[in-house]
Amino acid sequence: ATFKDAGLHPVMLKNVELAGYELPTPIQRYCLPAIHLGYDVIGIAQTGSGKTAAYLIPILNKLMGKAKKLAAWRPNPATYKPGIDPPCRAEPLVVIIAPTRELAVQIFNEARKFCYRTMLRPCVVYGGTGSYKDQEAQLQKGCDVLIATPGRLVRFMEEPRTLTFRRVRYMVIDEADEMLDQDWKDELDKIMTGGEQEEGNINYMLFSATFPKAARELAKTHLAETHVRLR
Ligand code: AMP
Repeated sequence: ATFKDAGLHPVMLKNVELAGYELPTPIQRYCLPAIHLGYDVIGIAQTGSGKTAAYLIPILNKLMGKAKKLAAWRPNPATYKPGIDPPCRAEPLVVIIAPTRELAVQIFNEARKFCYRTMLRPCVVYGGTGSYKDQEAQLQKGCDVLIATPGRLVRFMEEPRTLTFRRVRYMVIDEADEMLDQDWKDELDKIMTGGEQEEGNINYMLFSATFPKAARELAKTHLAETHVRLR
């Protein structure tokens, strides 16, 4: 199987080529069709397996059609002046949660490659050294693909004028085992149910290097029941 067989939009196929990816990795060969068909996915994968692109490519490929319409009614992020232009809020279509700032930034950089020429706008927010004000200003320029660490995201969820989950279609929990080890379970539950009230049918993806009981329970609570095991 090659990326050409995956039924990707020409712009996405070009982005894959620009990223220098010639052949899909095993996890990508499983995830691309499963996500394309609308399944929730549990991926047991280590860093280095290509798991980030395994969910980013099919998700962004699915959402490309919506991007132009959404971008039309928000300010141009390149020329937007906070405090002068009317504030816009982030209504992401995709929310990706990662346990550390380093991983969140890594995912953001990968997302930037695949968002190129799609009109989808990625943003990253994280706690610790990350400036809340700067991140708030980024969100207020509009955001389609939000990558976040759990604590900071929960804080932004309490600011409905900055961020709303009403349009969320995909939620990805990356390194779920690591996050549960760090005691983020309550935040994860809050995030994973945070988008369900309005538009419903969100696809959930859970990636983890190991699959301990706590991760299985998280999957059981939030992921759809149908299983296909691709080999
Ligand atoms: P990840 O497992 O998502 O952290 O990815 C590990 C590294 O592999 C990253 O630097 C990716 O850019 C790279 N990568 C992901 N998929 C492919 C692929 N199909 N071909 C070549 N490199 C890839």
